[in-house]
Amino acid sequence: SLRAGIVGLPNVGKSTLFNAIVENGKAQAANFPFCTISPNVGVVAIPDPRLQVLSKLSKSQQTVPTSIELVDIAGLVKGASKGEGLGNQFLSNIREVDSILQVVRCFEDDDIVHVNGKVDPRSDIDVINLELIFSDLEQIEKRLDKLKKSKTKDAQVKVKEQAEKTGLEKIQEALMDGKPARSVDLADHEKEAIQHLCLLTMKPVIYVANVTESDLAEPDSNPHVKEVAKAASDLESGIVTISAQVEAELAELPLEERVEYLKSLGVAESGLGNLVKATYDLLGLRTYFTTGDKETKAWTILSGMTAPQAAGVIHSDFQKGFIRAETVSYDDFVAAGSLGAAREKGLLRLEGKDYVVQEGDVMLFRFNV
Ligand code: GDP
Repeated sequence: SLRAGIVGLPNVGKSTLFNAIVENGKAQAANFPFCTISPNVGVVAIPDPRLQVLSKLSKSQQTVPTSIELVDIAGLVKGASKGEGLGNQFLSNIREVDSILQVVRCFEDDDIVHVNGKVDPRSDIDVINLELIFSDLEQIEKRLDKLKKSKTKDAQVKVKEQAEKTGLEKIQEALMDGKPARSVDLADHEKEAIQHLCLLTMKPVIYVANVTESDLAEPDSNPHVKEVAKAASDLESGIVTISAQVEAELAELPLEERVEYLKSLGVAESGLGNLVKATYDLLGLRTYFTTGDKETKAWTILSGMTAPQAAGVIHSDFQKGFIRAETVSYDDFVAAGSLGAAREKGLLRLEGKDYVVQEGDVMLFRFNV
């Protein structure tokens, strides 16, 4: 499944946020005795109100949300790229995630020490960015050295190495200028050629501006948030405003009281909900559903995936043996009330292997075993 890593300087609210949003996941993980989950990895269930609607209509025994894995990558500090402290360990943790959430402190609280003495989002963002840039630069230099020494006679390999070289040189230039690799315009063959390096600044980033609860309703009134928004646009990244403390309090409340609490703060959606939306937007993710009397489940796919690829998210056998998918949009399913009723009304479509799955599709796969 998708992995997101939380980074940030000390005392910005990382652990508070992590513990608040993986709460449900911890309980779930406990149900899998054979999977050892380290304390800094959690599962975040993705809230989706459509799931409950479908589950009710299908009278499902189980309702299973889709999820992402969240890794708390604490300890990324100045000097990490030079291997100070446990720095290198953290950088290699980041290499393994699909996206980065950087928590940025935007709340003032004299009781909570800021590592640099004052709340200064741009400086916090730059500190971490620089570490990632240094690490990428070092890796690129080594790789370019190796490529220069290559004596391959294979024409195809030569072409690939040339693409990698030009791609890396473009990135190197951007990095020296303080810009992340993801901001560089690369040709498709260059992108492909450098992919194996898993550069840190190639990963999509969302800045999570952590504010005081009274700022939630009007985040732009907080000048720190504006600074984060500016940085996010400079660095081709996303931004979400949350209050880690509010998320922690929400997690303690029964579901039915959460909406009331959010209303009292003047917001419509929880921080987790907003974070999930931003992640889906940034990574181009989509959700589709399977539903029946046994269970209703949500599945995460990449935008543009075909029906067999989407089936493969459930099981590789579904993809290999794919025949067709009975498909109905979420709205049509709800209007009809069931797959059977949708079929009778002619709302159910038989889609083949070239069908591109749409957001909210309800699907039933037919496949050979
Ligand atoms: P980490 O070092 O980034 O993991 O930060 P923690 O999550 O441990 O938070 C550091 C301290 O800041 C804790 O005492 C938290 O209770 C506090 N904290 C976190 N978020 C907020 C917030 O939104 N407002 C205030 N006032 N304190 C917060």
